[in-house]
Amino acid sequence: MANIFDKYEKTQEFLICIDSDGCAMNTMEIKHRRCFAPEMIKTWNLYEKEDYILNLWYDINLYTKTRGINRFKGLAETFKIISNEGIEIDDLDSLVNWVETTNELSNKSLEREIEKTNSKALKMAYEWSLNVNKSIEQLPKGDEPFENVKEGLETLSKLVDVAVVSSANGEALDDEWNRHNFVRHLKALLGQEAGTKQYCISELKKKGYDEKKILMVGDAPGDLQAAKNNNVNFYPILVNKEGYSWKRLVNEVVPKLMNGTFDEAYQNQLIKEFNDSLK
Ligand SMILES: [Mg+2]
Repeated sequence: MANIFDKYEKTQEFLICIDSDGCAMNTMEIKHRRCFAPEMIKTWNLYEKEDYILNLWYDINLYTKTRGINRFKGLAETFKIISNEGIEIDDLDSLVNWVETTNELSNKSLEREIEKTNSKALKMAYEWSLNVNKSIEQLPKGDEPFENVKEGLETLSKLVDVAVVSSANGEALDDEWNRHNFVRHLKALLGQEAGTKQYCISELKKKGYDEKKILMVGDAPGDLQAAKNNNVNFYPILVNKEGYSWKRLVNEVVPKLMNGTFDEAYQNQLIKEFNDSLK
């Protein structure tokens, strides 16, 4: 089967892979604050301790080491914590068990599990997940790239090959990157259909880039892991400091990468800074 990687051609010595949500595009806050979290409160009728549960959701999904976690894992984590605090979630064990054992955390896989188990918690998680998708579709198309992304892409694309490596839905990704007229700066726009981030980086590596000449730019620990597993460099876009991070990417990080001074000590310093930025 022909795939997106067959068409890909390396044109520069260096490759920068860039995650989209929460890294280039300011989409995470709005999705969690207006869709994921309120739909959870509604589906499980958690209004009584709403503020506490909302803040817990934001911490798990945005501000701590689990930033960027899959929605179902985030849900199970939140519910495990609140149930320890005495807030009862009916049939929680079924949800936790599915999250821990399934090899695919998706609506489709959840449907199959519901057919097998008829579990109440899984049915509610499914309903929640569909409602989240609907509410995301209804968000105003006001999503914007972070500050300095536009200028950054313009500069970088003249120096290096640039590819977006994201686990977002391909259609949404196409829409966002075309709307802002950024696709012209890219060698590839890879969403979840192209494979995991780790897989996409490994396929791009096969196009002939030296490992040390590849940089993964991301905002979540999963991005760091995908880079590490491919033995390529990582640069963090720090939460709430995105504009600064993009400026530094262009003015300091890519120059260091290109002149050979992006060394282990520098990489470790960046990773430490990233870890310190997430509680
Ligand atoms: Mg991200």
